[in-house]
Amino acid sequence: LIKLKTIEEIKKIRAAGKILARVAQSIKEAVKEGVSLKFLDELAFNLIKKAGAEPAFLGYQPSGAKKPYGYSICASVNEVVVHGIPTKYKLKNGDLLKIDLGLRYHEFYADIAFTLPIGKVSSVAERLSKTTQEALMKGIKVAIINNTIGDIGYAIQNFAESKGFKIIKGLTGHGIGRDLHEDPFVYNEGKKGEGEKLKAGMTLAIEPMISAGSEKIIQFKNDSYATSDGALSAHFEHTIAITEKGPEILTML
Ligand code: MG
Repeated sequence: LIKLKTIEEIKKIRAAGKILARVAQSIKEAVKEGVSLKFLDELAFNLIKKAGAEPAFLGYQPSGAKKPYGYSICASVNEVVVHGIPTKYKLKNGDLLKIDLGLRYHEFYADIAFTLPIGKVSSVAERLSKTTQEALMKGIKVAIINNTIGDIGYAIQNFAESKGFKIIKGLTGHGIGRDLHEDPFVYNEGKKGEGEKLKAGMTLAIEPMISAGSEKIIQFKNDSYATSDGALSAHFEHTIAITEKGPEILTML
């Protein structure tokens, strides 16, 4: 069941999204060689609380996970795609870091993810990151009334594959609102015109996850997912609203 949001409800998600974008910006500024993932998690927790919001991931148990999540961010390095644990690991020159975080503010959620190179990364890492960010924007651009979920997936997949990369299988974006994960699934691959029709009032988290090698994932004991062949992966995400005027990114400064 897809819950369409009123203008008032979208306003609330926009407010949550603005706080989230500011927290994301502070994290980006703090990320550098030698900084621990744990430090970034504590920074996110403190900033979210200070803004009067609640970390969305803390205590959340996603389907497929063995236990509730104990942190405010996911911090996934190199081959780890999503759900990476913010451990004491200190970022090294050449790492490709993915941060995923969400928050709840006045009953509504917002969700964002981004990829950051640490110091000097390989040219593949750089291209992969840039491609994934652009793929997200391609997907958002076609998130318009009367297009479909398949159009979003097609735009993302087509662009990623044109750059020689693969869409990671088994992980998707999602609807978002009063719940962190709502219907529909927002696939990163698809066929034009297929799937659910997009309507004004839909709020979606679009999040391409792209691999420089295998499209298959394996799940580690700590619930994080990595590419099956250890290939680099990248991840970008925005929360958007589909409106009469077109797609609006709600997780922007
Ligand atoms: Mg998400």
